[in-house]
Amino acid sequence: MTTIQEDREDQEDREGREGRTAEDLKRLAEQAGRDLEDASALEILQWAVETFGKTFCVTSSMEDAVVAHLASRAQPGDSQVDVVFLDTGYHFPETIGTRDAVEAVMDVNVITLTPRQTVAEQDAEYGPKLHDRDPDLCCALRKVKPLEEGLTRYDAWATGLRRDESPTRANTPVVGWDEKRQKVKISPIARWTQDDVDAYVAEHGVLTNPLLMDGYASVGCAPCTRRVLEGEDARAGRWAGRSKTECGLHG
Ligand code: SF4
Repeated sequence: MTTIQEDREDQEDREGREGRTAEDLKRLAEQAGRDLEDASALEILQWAVETFGKTFCVTSSMEDAVVAHLASRAQPGDSQVDVVFLDTGYHFPETIGTRDAVEAVMDVNVITLTPRQTVAEQDAEYGPKLHDRDPDLCCALRKVKPLEEGLTRYDAWATGLRRDESPTRANTPVVGWDEKRQKVKISPIARWTQDDVDAYVAEHGVLTNPLLMDGYASVGCAPCTRRVLEGEDARAGRWAGRSKTECGLHG
C-alpha cells in the first residue's frame, strides 16, 4: 500500500505532467463522452490510462473490485493504476478486508485516504453520532473533503457508478466533466446492469465484499447502511429513512 504521505514526492512529477489546462481537460471530456458512449468498459479505461498516465486514478468503495480489475487489465505490469479508497473510520470490517485483499492480490496500487480527524476527534468536536444528527456534515468531513484533497494530484478519476443503480444516476456519462473538482470523471461501467457486473465477477473471479452475499446491495459506512428489501433499488439501504441519497462525492 502506498499512502498519500509516502507518495508525495511523486506529486511534482504528476501535477501538470500532461501540461493540460482545465479548459483542455473539459474539451477532452466532452469529446470523449461522445466518442466513447458505445465503447466497452475496458476500452474506456485503456483510453484513460493512455490519455492521462499517472494523472489518472480509480476510486473504489470496495463494494466490489470490478473497476479496479478492469484497470489492472488496461494497465498491466509495473506502472499500476492507483486505486483510491476512502477509509472513513466507519466501514464494516468486511469492507476493510476487501480493501486488504485487493491490495494483496491485484495488479493495482491501493491508496487509502483518511479524514483529518479520527472518529473520536470528530465526536469530541461535534458530539457523538454526527451521522445521525447531520449526515451531510459527517459525509463532508469524512468523505468529500478527503477525496478532494486526494484527487488534487490527478487530472482524471474513474468511478463504479452505474445508470441502473438509482434514478439519481440514470444520466451518468461514461466520460464527463467534474465541474466541482475541475477534473475528467470517468464511469466505465455506467451502461452496465447488475447482471453485467455479476457476469464479469463470475468470469474473472473478481473480489467482492462478502456483505453483498448477506442482503446488502450497496455497501457504505456501517451506521448508514442496511440490507435492502425485496423490490427496493440497490441504493435503498443507504441512509434509509432519511432524505439523503448521495454522500456528495458525485454531486
Ligand atoms: Fe458519516 Fe454516514 Fe456519511 Fe459515513 S455515510 S461519512 S458515517 S454520514
